[in-house]
This record gives sequence, structure tokens and C-alpha cells, in this order.
Amino acid sequence: METFLNLAWVVAGILFISSLRGLANQETARRGNGYGVTGMILAIAAILLSGTAQHLGPLVGTLLVGALIGGTMAQRVAMTSMPEMVAILHSFVGLAAVLVGYAAYLDPPNGHGGIAYNIEIWLDVLIGAITFTGSIVAFLKLKGSLSGKPLLLPGRHALNLVVILVSLGLVVPFAGAEGSLGIPWLMIMTVLAGLQGVHLVAAIGGADMPVVVSMLNSYSGWTASAAGFMLGNNLLIITGALVGSSGAILSYIMCKAMNRSLVSVIFGGFGADPAPGSASAAPQQPQGEVVATDIAELADELRDAKEVIIVPGYGMAVARAQHAVRQLTDLLRSKGCNTRFAIHPVAGRLPGHMNVLLAEASVPYDIVLEMDEINQDFAKTDVVLIIGANDIVNPGAQTDASSPIYGMPVLEVWKSKRTVVLKRSRSSGYAGVDNPLFYLENNRMLFADAREGMEKLVAALQ
Ligand code: NDP
Repeated sequence: METFLNLAWVVAGILFISSLRGLANQETARRGNGYGVTGMILAIAAILLSGTAQHLGPLVGTLLVGALIGGTMAQRVAMTSMPEMVAILHSFVGLAAVLVGYAAYLDPPNGHGGIAYNIEIWLDVLIGAITFTGSIVAFLKLKGSLSGKPLLLPGRHALNLVVILVSLGLVVPFAGAEGSLGIPWLMIMTVLAGLQGVHLVAAIGGADMPVVVSMLNSYSGWTASAAGFMLGNNLLIITGALVGSSGAILSYIMCKAMNRSLVSVIFGGFGADPAPGSASAAPQQPQGEVVATDIAELADELRDAKEVIIVPGYGMAVARAQHAVRQLTDLLRSKGCNTRFAIHPVAGRLPGHMNVLLAEASVPYDIVLEMDEINQDFAKTDVVLIIGANDIVNPGAQTDASSPIYGMPVLEVWKSKRTVVLKRSRSSGYAGVDNPLFYLENNRMLFADAREGMEKLVAALQ
């Protein structure tokens, strides 16, 4: 039976690795997802068939209820609410790890016990509790129920350090305790780790949430891996390590893209302190006049343009404007205008958010370019059309040291001959800062809902 299970774990592990590989590219992402689903079905089927699982009735019942709730949630969730859903799912992983840790301590499987086993439980519960509460705060922030502003307690870095050292130190009496006598220590640490999770994520503000979400993703993997060691389950170790390391790599890539330090994400509150050299934390007020345009004027400019770059942002997702954007792209390309897309790594509210929407609308992949691939091309572009994007095209990120997004690389759209920003008002984006781009001489504002505006523009060009 053990050979059968190990074989199933190897096959499932290979499927999970293939899944990650597939998900790394838009063209293979669907296949990658399929590999992941197959691996998971194989893993669950192997456990059920192996006869090693006890209490099969309640287990299958719970699985069905969970699958029904998860399936319904996934069906109903709007693309714009995906980040909240991802955050809440991470919190479930954290909570499950805490509960499994307690169960494994109070009722150890045969042959388990001892100091090393207790340390595994400790790690599992510690990371699980941080992931659980941190993800709930991330969920509330992304949903807008909690303010996006960072919570800056006095001496917060020292506080973090003390709490983490105490949490780690309590492992000594816990690991050495007889039987289940260490439970009070475990409970104290769970409360401390839970508070730590709240504090770490509450201290993150502005536009830095994406990195936190991917860090929590990584934590949820490591906690699952710790649970794998604790339960002696190889597949859980492999799967947890895959999620943990891919989440850590994604966090690293996003930190690099946003010019932030990974260490400061882990310890909470990066990007929240006033930037060095700034007199105060209040960003500068942009100077100048905002000039509005209309559909007819924009259509004329696009008719004459040879080089156009479209910058999609969160507002395109909210308005579900991607299909109209694709129609506009087809029209422009059919008249010989070189039309491409510029994708910022944190555009929208999820890594890859814009790529998914454009793929859904069948925009060809080869005209969808990453920031690094296209940033130098703005200077030779006639019109840049910015659809529901704001923070990712904010020149203040390069010039205003007091801005919360200072230092984050942005799309340098203002270097083009003309920028047109399509959004409903002058209001700020996720980071809550004013955008000096709106006031530049070569910029025009097209005040409209992204979808309505795009549909009218397509009609005008047709
Ligand atoms: P922003 O949040 O900066 O701006 C979006 C703009 O869209 C708003 O200013 C809003 O202006 C406009 N908008 C909203 N609804 C509509 C609509 N129906 N039609 C037209 N416009 C609309 O988005 P960006 O994509 O530029 O930047 C992403 C931000 O989100 C960054 O700060 C990033 O750090 C953060 N973030 C990203 C995550 C990720 O993983 N990608 C996760 C969490 C946060 P108006 O109301 O005037 O229309």
C-alpha cells in the first residue's frame, strides 16, 4: 500500500510541477490548470482507495460540502473580486494548518511524538496563525472594509521583533513538555502569532498590497509543508514546498518590479514610512490645468496615428471593457496602425490580471508587452490610450519623494506625443494619490465609463 501511495504522490507531484510550468505562460495556462486539477483528483482518489484514511463517511461528506461551497464561490466571483477571494482562500489554509496542528498534538498518529515532532507542530501552527489572521486583514483591505492606509504603531519594528522572539522562544517549554501538557504554551503562541499576522499586514499601505498577497500565498505553502512533515505525508511536503517557493519567487519578482525590499515586506510596513529626504509624508499637489477631450476628437487623433499603445488598468476590469478594447485594436490594426499593449506588473488587482482579461477577449499575445519590453517605446508613440489605469502611469513615482508610490517603476507614458486617460473622474487610484499626468500639457482626459467610452469610440471609428 505504501508503494502504491508513494507512486501516486510522485505522479501527482509531477503533475503539480507541470501545472506551475504551464501557468507561467498565457498560451499554456489553461493546460497548466488542467494538470493541477488532475494531480489533485489523483491525490484525493489515492488516499480514499488506499484504505489508510479513517472516518471515510464524514470525510467524503465534508469534501462534498467544501467542493460545493468552493465551486459556487468560484462561479459567482467577479473578476474584480478575485484578489479578495485569493486572500480569503489563503486564510482557510492557515486556519486548517492551525487546527491540524492542534489535532496532531492532542492525538498523535501512531509512532509519532517527541521533541522533533513537537517542533514540526510548533512551526505549522506559527506560520498557519500568521497566515490566517494576516490573510483576513488583507481580505478586508482589498474589499475596502478596512482602510488601505497603513497602521503605524509607535515602535512597531521593535514590537514585531519582540513578539516573534517570544513566539519562537516558547517552543522550548512546549517541545519538552510531556504528553499534551504543552497545550497552554501552544495556545499562547497561537494568540501571539495571530496578532503578529494582523499587525504585519495592517502596517502595509498604499500600492504595496500585491506583494503582501503573494507573500501570504507563499506562507500558506510553507505551513502546508510543515503539516506534511508533521503528518509524515510526502505529497503535502512537496505541494507545500511548490506553493511556498513559487509564492516566494513571485513576491521577489513583484518586489523587484516595485523597487521594494523583500525583507521589509516580511517584517511589515515597508513603503509606509515617509521616503528618505522627504520633509513630510504629504504628497505634492500637482500644478496645471486638466483638459478634457471627447470621442470625436480622440477618433480623429487615432485615425492619424501610426503608433498607438494601450495601457489597461483596474478600471478596464471594473467596466468589463476588454471586448470593446479588442474591437478597437482590430480596427486600428486593420488600417495599418501599429497597436500594442503595455502591461504593468501590478496593473489591476491581481498579478496577471490584465493578461487574463485580454486573453479572454482574444487579443493576440504577441502585441501584449511587459513594462520592460515597451517602456522605451513611448517616446516614438503618437497616442497612448490609458483605460482605467492610474497609479501605474503616475509620474510622481519618479519625481515626488513624499509619494507613497515613490520608487515604484511606472509606464513612462508622458514621453509620447499625446496621452488620453479614459476614466470617470479625476479621482485617485488604489494608492490614494493624485496623478500629475492629468495636468500635463500633452494629456487629455476622456471622462466616461471605460466600456461605454470604448464602445462609442469603436462606433465613431467604424
Ligand atoms: P488604480 O487603482 O490606480 O486606478 C484605477 C482607476 O480606474 C481609478 O482611478 C478609477 O478612476 C478608474 N475606474 C474605476 N472604474 C472605472 C470604470 N468603470 N470606467 C473607467 N475607469 C474606471 O489602477 P491601476 O491598474 O493603475 O493600478 C493598480 C493599483 O492597485 C496599484 O496601486 C497596485 O499596487 C494596486 N494593487 C495591485 C494588485 C495586483 O496584484 N495587481 C493587488 C492589490 C493592489 P475613476 O473612479 O475616476 O473612474
